[in-house]
Amino acid sequence: MQSTALTARRRRRELDELAGETVDLLVVGGGVTGTGVALDAAARGLSVALVEARDLAWGTSRWSSKLAHGGLRYLATGDVGVARESARERHVLMTRTAPHLVRALPQVLPLTPGTGRRRGLTVGIGFGLGDLLRRDAGTSSLVLPGPRLARPGEVARLVPAIARERLHGAWIAHDGQLVDDARLVVALARTAAGRGAKILTRVRATELRADGATLEDTLTGATLTVRARVVVNATGVWAGTVDPSVRLRPSRGTHVVVPAARLGSPTGALMVPVPGSGSRYVFALPAQLGRVVIGLTDEEAPGPVPDVPVATQAEIDFLLETVSAVLARPLLPDDVVGTFAGLRPLVDTAGSGDGPSADVSRKHLVEVSPSTGAVNVLGGKLTTYRTMAEDAVDLAVKHAGLTAGPCWTTALPLVGAPSLAGPGSGVSTGSTSGAGGGLPESLVARYGTEAAEVLAAAVLPGSASAVGLGITGAEHLDITRAEIEWAVTHEGALDADDVLDRRTRIGLVPADRAAVRDVVEELVADSLARL
Ligand SMILES: Cc1cc2nc3c(=O)[nH]c(=O)nc-3n(C[C@H](O)[C@H](O)[C@H](O)COP(=O)(O)OP(=O)(O)OC[C@H]3O[C@@H](n4cnc5c(N)ncnc54)[C@H](O)[C@@H]3O)c2cc1C
Repeated sequence: MQSTALTARRRRRELDELAGETVDLLVVGGGVTGTGVALDAAARGLSVALVEARDLAWGTSRWSSKLAHGGLRYLATGDVGVARESARERHVLMTRTAPHLVRALPQVLPLTPGTGRRRGLTVGIGFGLGDLLRRDAGTSSLVLPGPRLARPGEVARLVPAIARERLHGAWIAHDGQLVDDARLVVALARTAAGRGAKILTRVRATELRADGATLEDTLTGATLTVRARVVVNATGVWAGTVDPSVRLRPSRGTHVVVPAARLGSPTGALMVPVPGSGSRYVFALPAQLGRVVIGLTDEEAPGPVPDVPVATQAEIDFLLETVSAVLARPLLPDDVVGTFAGLRPLVDTAGSGDGPSADVSRKHLVEVSPSTGAVNVLGGKLTTYRTMAEDAVDLAVKHAGLTAGPCWTTALPLVGAPSLAGPGSGVSTGSTSGAGGGLPESLVARYGTEAAEVLAAAVLPGSASAVGLGITGAEHLDITRAEIEWAVTHEGALDADDVLDRRTRIGLVPADRAAVRDVVEELVADSLARL
């Protein structure tokens, strides 16, 4: 095992080494798919390099709803296979690979006279089917409690801002919720690095070939040619920029961010039916850093792929209006402190071209590209990254005639995961045993068993404090200075933007970003100087 720490120094050294090597597998793209592929391949004993044009989780993987889905929504569209796969992967995440990053989230569907008897019944049946998926996956009800009806008092405790006067009660069902999607990507990358994978950010692939790629180090402008026995293209919505044979049909999903206090600091997610749709809901999801994230839209997004997609005013209005229908006090535009949007890398399968993007299958595609000779791995979703990676590496090994062991990532805990939840145990610790003792809950939720080490490793003045950044105007952010240092010394952050926008998610709220930017820049510069 190698160190799992990613640093600027390690990046430089490994990039130099790469120029003279032939690796078994070169992964292009450092989102959840690419880092998942790198981990799978490295765990099978292959030599692996991953190149990411910007930063880990730069793309769609940081703009998700951060749910480890049980697949219920796919049942509604008849994708039983996708639904079962999703529930199985949620189980793997919650009980073995990342129980520290995924918690059981109660989802509340309020029942009012406006819900209608029929919808109430349909939801109950849907939740019942979702529970069958949970059982089928072997997930204990201790990990994810089954669905049930709740009284108004309990509903109001979970979602205090709900309008109570016409509330009969609610359906409550549980799903998996990630503390943050970008943190899952970083955990995957570091776990892969621990098994010898080179994880190289700020390295763009400019040309893919069956036996390697041309790369550009975007920090220096230097070009290098790397040889690989097989290349895996995991560039998500950007796949078409390196492979002209790829046909995607991106769909934009938008969220708005409001302060959690505005909704009474809910501990459950609110599900509000979208008027006129039998299967779509808007969710108000409690999130870290004292926020609630409200999503989700599904809009066709044809044309060139932007670096960072932007929410439209119509989408923001739609989300506020839909969720306000069940709130005691409607949300107003002034309540919104941030917005974000991402593009789903949906595969344009034959015949799907004319229907709405919400109906395009979330199945993933793994195939050898007729134009580059690389293995393309596209589509899917965050929850099923592991099976996507397994399928991609299986095909890559076969295609290149490599010798590799079988996939065993279902039994491979990510950095920070308690090793208690071992392979086949089927038991979630539900907590991060070994990390708790007196540490802030938020720190444990983000770092699991590494939480104590994050604090212990901090050396800069003021960093040993376990509480807050010590910045006026940012008292509500439960992030410590030690986390900023750790991002640079262990998580491959190369500048303040990496820290603000991906290692922490401070940047989701522009006012928070502005309040802490100077201090974070200083801490990052000092930490980089120490490396
Ligand atoms: C709004 C929204 C909400 C979602 N919510 C959920 C959810 O709650 N649960 C769930 O399971 N799924 C969800 N999904 C789906 C999920 O987020 C995506 O399927 C997944 O993140 C895609 O990951 P990826 O690694 O394939 O792509 P990306 O994360 O986009 O990664 C591709 C990477 O490739 C890099 N790259 C591009 N070109 C090059 C190049 N030439 N050289 C090197 N690197 C390059 C990019 O910088 C990028 O980092 C959601 C999606 C959206 C849009």
